[in-house]
Amino acid sequence: MSDFKSKDEYDKMSSELQSLEKTLKKSLDERRLWIKVFESSSQGILITKADGTITDVNAAFTNITGYSREETVGRKPSLLKSDRHDKAFYTDMWQTIFASGQWEGEVWDRRKTGEIYPKWLSITAIRNAENQITHFVGMFTDITSVKQAEGNLEHVTNYDFLTGLPNRSLFDDRLRQALYYSGRKKKMAALMFLDLDRFKLINEALGHRAGDHFLVEAARRILDCVSKSDTVSRFGADEFTVLLTGITDTLHAARVAGNILENVSRSFVLEEQEIFITVSIGITVFPNDGEDVETLMRNADAALSYAKEKGKNNFQFYSKSLYAGMTERLTMETNLRNALTNKELFLYYQPKVSIKTGKITGAEALIRWKDADNRFISPEKFIPVAEETGLIFTIFDIALKEINRLGPQIRKLRKGDNSFRIAVNLSFRQFQHQNLIEKIKNTVTECNETGCIEIELTESTIMHETEEVIKILKALKEMDISCSIDDFGTGYSSLSYLKRLPIDTLKIDRSFIKDIPEDTVSMSIVRAIIALGHSMKISIVAEGVETEEQLNFLRDENCDEVQGYYFFRPMPETEFLALLEKDYRQTAD
Ligand code: C2E
Ligand code: CA
Ligand code: CA
Repeated sequence: MSDFKSKDEYDKMSSELQSLEKTLKKSLDERRLWIKVFESSSQGILITKADGTITDVNAAFTNITGYSREETVGRKPSLLKSDRHDKAFYTDMWQTIFASGQWEGEVWDRRKTGEIYPKWLSITAIRNAENQITHFVGMFTDITSVKQAEGNLEHVTNYDFLTGLPNRSLFDDRLRQALYYSGRKKKMAALMFLDLDRFKLINEALGHRAGDHFLVEAARRILDCVSKSDTVSRFGADEFTVLLTGITDTLHAARVAGNILENVSRSFVLEEQEIFITVSIGITVFPNDGEDVETLMRNADAALSYAKEKGKNNFQFYSKSLYAGMTERLTMETNLRNALTNKELFLYYQPKVSIKTGKITGAEALIRWKDADNRFISPEKFIPVAEETGLIFTIFDIALKEINRLGPQIRKLRKGDNSFRIAVNLSFRQFQHQNLIEKIKNTVTECNETGCIEIELTESTIMHETEEVIKILKALKEMDISCSIDDFGTGYSSLSYLKRLPIDTLKIDRSFIKDIPEDTVSMSIVRAIIALGHSMKISIVAEGVETEEQLNFLRDENCDEVQGYYFFRPMPETEFLALLEKDYRQTAD
């Protein structure tokens, strides 16, 4: 037997060798490729034997866990464990791997530094030809940043971006929880709705950035007034809510509300300007006023409206009677809308008389509503509703248009008397309108051709809406409209402040005239107002003059004009024009 193989055999062997070499090379290439993938993968990879002993880890593994290859090979993966998962968690995981060959999920492990972190881990069991498990391969990514983003997301959806306070949806949750616990523990909870008065004006006057600063500061001041277990949230632009839990009496809520009023109303310095803002608060109490979220929210809102109506800068509790009042007002609103469509509103005129000459010097236009049944409805009833609903603008327009219609006749009857004017009441609510000047300008340029219009604003309007009022009064002046301050004496306005206003007339409030001559305090106030007005060259009108004694006192004190039942009650247009004609003829005599 020769060792030599036949050529055929040799060829066969050599081709086998070549193919073996190829396969080997291929497999070496594959292995190199595999190593490259293994090493450069951004996923952490760890390989264990069937008994769990670690045989290999990659670079990403080291990056993520902090353990080097040397520190891990030969050890068990329990090295990485945090104690965030219980035994059941791992049992479950291994059962899945044995059953299906694979498991995937979120695991919290511990880095070498001790830090606990989340990872997304997949574990695959590797089986040989005999279907026996030989290895496990674990591949994972660090999802700390994903979690953080999710956390932010949770923050974004639950907290107000600007103030950092819980937002509406989180507040809603907390309220539900609080009601549940308060119900079980038989405790009370108080829900407050807060609304910053005049915030819109500040935002417009100083810009949104300043407005934002302002809101952050307001939030801080509200927070200062509650305890840690209470929740303050931002509900809308300038609306906040407060939830007081575990309280035992309503007095506590009143105290907190009082503190908030005081704390918020301390002056702010914004863009080098000192600013005062106030807040109105509506309070409702669980379980007294309601036992579910919806009812309590509605109640708090109703109480807030009530607080605003009461002149803002105060708090009001919800009470069932308040609710009854609301439904009554709602009916009033519907009726008023219908009345406006059906033209049931018109003006009465109440002349003003000069004390010196006894002549009519002007009049106040007072709105009247006679319903379908010919009943008069008092303005004291429907004006507040009109103010709340914005219908006051329509009423104002009606008044201006009516006066303009009368203008030419009045001018004819008052030839040469350019100071004769008809006064229209401008409500404080109209100042909360963005384009008040524009709006007045439009109606007025249409209506004041005859220069007959005068505007009355109450002293409290002037005090609450200061900067805006000054702007508007100046604009009115430019449009040749006179201005008087109504209900003067009730609002404690500062005298120095009055000097800044372009005012023609002060109308002393009826309440001071009413008790003359019995009430000496009222009399000295009237005396002071007249002296003050005259020192500033402002003409003084006394309202509600009903008796001769009152008139005599006012004459002695040099009051300029009077308005009241003693001379004239408010009267319909025809009567008013006839009166003017008579008055004109007397003047001509
Ligand atoms: P006001 O502006 O203080 O108007 C004077 C009120 O006093 C009028 O009541 C008038 O009729 C009444 N009055 C006049 N003389 C006497 C008197 O000698 N004795 C008594 N006891 N009362 C007298 P009225 O017309 O019921 O109006 C009530 C309030 O409704 C007004 O108070 C004003 O605030 C508001 N108002 C009336 N018309 C309008 C309007 O067109 N626009 C706005 N915004 N408010 C109006
Ligand atoms: Ca008035
Ligand atoms: Ca008045």
